[in-house]
Amino acid sequence: MPSLYDLTLTELEERVEALGAPRYRARQVRAWAFRRFARSYDDMSNVPAPLRRRLAAELPFPETRVVAELRSDDGLTRKRLIRLADGRLIEAVLMLYDPRSDSRGRATVCVSSQAGCAMGCVFCATGQGGFERNLTAGEILAQVTGFAREQADAGGQPLTNVVFMGMGEPMANWPAVWRAVETLNAADGVGMAARHITISTVGLIPGIRRLADEPLQVGLAVSLHAPDEALRERLIPTAHRYPLPAIIAACREYVARTGRRVTFEYCLMEGVNDAPEQARALAALLDGVLCHVNIIPVNPTADARMSDGPYGRRPSRARTLAFQRELTARGVACTVRVEKGVEISAACGQLRGEAAPLPVVQTLPSR
Ligand code: SAH
Ligand code: SF4
Repeated sequence: MPSLYDLTLTELEERVEALGAPRYRARQVRAWAFRRFARSYDDMSNVPAPLRRRLAAELPFPETRVVAELRSDDGLTRKRLIRLADGRLIEAVLMLYDPRSDSRGRATVCVSSQAGCAMGCVFCATGQGGFERNLTAGEILAQVTGFAREQADAGGQPLTNVVFMGMGEPMANWPAVWRAVETLNAADGVGMAARHITISTVGLIPGIRRLADEPLQVGLAVSLHAPDEALRERLIPTAHRYPLPAIIAACREYVARTGRRVTFEYCLMEGVNDAPEQARALAALLDGVLCHVNIIPVNPTADARMSDGPYGRRPSRARTLAFQRELTARGVACTVRVEKGVEISAACGQLRGEAAPLPVVQTLPSR
C-alpha cells in the first residue's frame, strides 16, 4: 500500500476528491506532512476528523522506525539506523555545520536510496553487503522529515540540503528517487531549492542523461575513484557496463545542457589510486570539463578485512595534499572532504545496517 509520502499533490488531490472532500484539503495535508512534519493525521487540526480517518486507513504515513541514533561527540553529526516495515535496515545521517565555518550553517541530510547496493564497490561497506531492495519515495522522504522534525522540535537550524550519498545507487532506483526529489523541491512539499539537492551516482549513464534533461537544477555528483578503466573496474566490479570515457562524455554533455558543473568524487586509497601520476592522469581525463573534484580519504569500514586489506588504507595527510596539488596545478578545482562523524561510523561508505556493533545511544519512538 502506498503511503501519504508516495503521492504527488495531484495524486493526493484526486484521492481527496474521491473521498468526497474538496481538493484544497490535499494542500493542507501536505503542509502538515512536509512543512510541519506531523507525526500522524491526528496532528492535522484543521482537517475534518472523518477525512483524516479515511486517509489514515488508505494512505498511512510511511512505516519507518528509528531504532538507534548515534551522535558524534560534538553533536553535529547524527546517524540513524532506521527499520523499514519489512524489517530491513537503512541509515540516514544529519550533518550540521558550524555557522562560522565555510559551510555557513548548512544542515545536510544524507539519505539512502536503496537497502544495500548491487554495485559491489570493494571499499564500500554497503557494496560488500549486496543488494536488498529499492526504497520507495516515501521511505526516502521519511529520512528527511524525521530529521527535520527533530530539528524543529529542538529549535535547531532547519534543513538546508539533501544529498543522495547514503546506502544504494540512486540512479538504479530512478522513479522513486525522482518522486522524492519532486516532493522535496515542491512549493507544496518540503520547498527545498533544487540546487540544494545532490544526487551521487557511480556512473550510470542513463541517469546522468535524465538529470541533464530535467528542468530542475538538481546537482550531479559522479564517483570516479580511478583515472583509468582497468583500475576503476577493480574498485567497482560492475563498472564495465559504463566505461570511463563514456561517463566523461555524458558529463560533458550534462555541463553543455545545464551550464552546471559536475562534482567528481574520488575516494583516495593508499597505494591504490593516490600516486601523483594518477592525479596527473585524472587531470588529463577531466581536461575542459566544468567540474569540482572532491577527494575523500577512504574511511575504515566495519569489515576489518577490508580495512586491513589493499583498499582500506587512508593515505597520509601529506600524500593526500600532494594529490590535490597535482590537480590544482593543472587547473582542476579540488577539495579534500572534511571528515564528519568518523567516530560513529557515519562517514561515507560506512553505512551498513547489520555490520559493526551499534551501541544504542537513544531509542526513539516511531518516526
Ligand atoms: N552509490 C552512489 C551514492 C552513494 S555512495 C555513489 O557511489 O556515488 C556515496 C559516496 O561514498 C561515493 O562517492 C562513495 O565512493 C563513497 N564511499 C563509499 N565507501 C567509502 C569509504 N569506505 N570511504 C570513503 N568514501 C566512501
Ligand atoms: Fe553502491 Fe555507491 Fe557503495 Fe559503490 S560506493 S557500493 S555504488 S553505495
